[in-house]
Amino acid sequence: LKVVTQIADLEHSGQVVGFVPTMGALHEGHLSLMRKARTESDCVVASLFVNPTQFGKNEDFDKYPRHFDRDADLAASVGVDVLFAPSVQEVYPRTSSVVHVPEVTSRWEGAHRPGHFDGVSTVVCKLLNIVRPTKAYFGLKDFQQCRVIERMVEDLNMPVHLSFEETVREPDGLAMSSRNMYLSHEERQVAPLLHQQLLHLRTVARGGHSLKAHLEAGHKLLVQAGFVPDYLALVRWEDLSPIDRAEQRSALIVAARLGKTRLIDNLLIY
Ligand code: AMP
Repeated sequence: LKVVTQIADLEHSGQVVGFVPTMGALHEGHLSLMRKARTESDCVVASLFVNPTQFGKNEDFDKYPRHFDRDADLAASVGVDVLFAPSVQEVYPRTSSVVHVPEVTSRWEGAHRPGHFDGVSTVVCKLLNIVRPTKAYFGLKDFQQCRVIERMVEDLNMPVHLSFEETVREPDGLAMSSRNMYLSHEERQVAPLLHQQLLHLRTVARGGHSLKAHLEAGHKLLVQAGFVPDYLALVRWEDLSPIDRAEQRSALIVAARLGKTRLIDNLLIY
């Protein structure tokens, strides 16, 4: 493993470069992306950068978990060749130009986290330009983020292939997330309900039924269990608009706070 902190030192001779951007605190979800990249690339680059511009003022930028040595060991263990771990100053030496992706950013995470997707699209654009990978790997855990990045790459004719990978879960169904470590013991027991609700709703959706009443019931059930839901919806991949009955390329999406921790999850219908 070669650790690089300066953009100028980032060079690679491999032909096919696979790239996995992360914010660190690596878990199996991240590692599965790196393993996939490993099988398809000559050179695997991962980045480890807690991007300040995608955090809101009252969000967890300062307390976001940072475990560099552990992350470097994990990245090496799955065959990452280069770990790009720049400082904030290296990525943002001055006030940056901003990439704004329209339409697909307006709802859901975009509505509940103002400015979040501008931060995401800007840093992903910068990282893709710095690393210049053949293919970049993202987790479907961040469903809307995948659509936003796809839209950016299409709109701006960016020369990169994208790969979106299945969500990796704990044995009880909870989607793996660096933020799960914020959960108290009690909250951790309740958290898998999010995934259970999505499984139930997916069964209803696959039956061709209207989801309206079921989504309302699901919302209530989450509240009763102690969640403060931001949204629970069935959406189209294309424009993230809410729909009532399942279609090709639709997904159930949910975001809810449990205590101080905000969790998101989703499930593709087919
Ligand atoms: P993050 O470090 O949270 O920014 O995530 C880095 C990448 O890992 C993103 O593409 C995420 O979608 C992906 N990722 C995070 N959690 C999971 C998971 N449980 N399964 C699969 N991919 C994930």
